[in-house]
Amino acid sequence: MELIDLRSDTVTKPTKEMRQAMANAEVGDDVYGEDPTTRKLEVIAAEMIGKEDTLFVASGTMGNQVAALTHLQRGEEVILEAESHMFYYEAGGLALLSAAQTRTIPGKRGFMDPDLIAQAIRADDLHFPRTGLLCLENTHNRAGGAVITPEQTTLMAKVAQERGIPVHLDGARVFNAALALGIDVRELTAPVDSVMFCLSKGLGAPVGSLLAGTKKFIAKARKNRKILGGGLRQAGIIAAAGIIALEKMVGRLAEDHYHARILREELVKLPGLTINPDRYPTNILICSVAKTGISAKRFSQLLAERGVLANPTSTSEIRFVTHKDVTEAQIKTTGKIINQIIMENTQH
Ligand SMILES: *Cc1c(COP(=O)(O)O)cnc(C)c1O
Repeated sequence: MELIDLRSDTVTKPTKEMRQAMANAEVGDDVYGEDPTTRKLEVIAAEMIGKEDTLFVASGTMGNQVAALTHLQRGEEVILEAESHMFYYEAGGLALLSAAQTRTIPGKRGFMDPDLIAQAIRADDLHFPRTGLLCLENTHNRAGGAVITPEQTTLMAKVAQERGIPVHLDGARVFNAALALGIDVRELTAPVDSVMFCLSKGLGAPVGSLLAGTKKFIAKARKNRKILGGGLRQAGIIAAAGIIALEKMVGRLAEDHYHARILREELVKLPGLTINPDRYPTNILICSVAKTGISAKRFSQLLAERGVLANPTSTSEIRFVTHKDVTEAQIKTTGKIINQIIMENTQH
């Protein structure tokens, strides 16, 4: 049976061109600062993302956690959205590594009301932790790949920065956000102090993410990466694929957005499914199956039996992620399979 894997864009495999570049990469010891390919990637990335410097890290999680470690002092508080990746999916890293306390704010499609952010920022008081960092996420994963605009980013960031608090952007899919808005990604990163983005998702590289910020911030982050065991040696082997990801793969994310739109159009027609409308749809589609009477877990099993892989994100919701290794035909097949499951397992 042919598998249609819509669990995540992390399942994408490197292209032939990436493998070729990896085989031919010029390398050295990156901990000694001697890997020319890794350095080349970091310089290209800095220019594209609009920050002074970047640091190549093993994963998005490592990039976010190194950023937190670099911004924070032990015992400080981090403000972040209640469904954000850094709060939800990083295994308590903020507590474990940065000894930070988290303060969550429920957002609307990933956007936190600036007044709520202002209220959450701690006054100078003996009893209180110091607020040390505000974290944003764009696109917002659990909000269904929701896009935050540059205006929204500025509104949120300003509240913190005016009080001397730095702002980190978890931009794992920030290129998807920029593409959906039809703007240069630098408009989304300009308002924040640091940003992490992934090469290993829709951009198709096998491994790696980048953390970006000022030269001073990145120098400090480099040491924190070393502490976490993330000082890589001949990293150019993987950085070479990252260069292709940035130079050749950013534009093609539009195809993923198009495929997600087709899937949405197929699914909104079906009884029992609920999908929130989205002004700037990207490559993530979260669909509630509550009205079918089938649990998300069961629904996902029924899909898997028919060759479609998709993860439940709650007891009633399933997430579909489009990416370069699924075709338009497979998306249409997915729509038909979901229709079959509803017809066979519900009454109408
Ligand atoms: C995937 C993801 C990450 C982390 O990436 P990994 O490379 O899997 O550690 C961080 N933030 C968001 C929003 C993500 O979707």
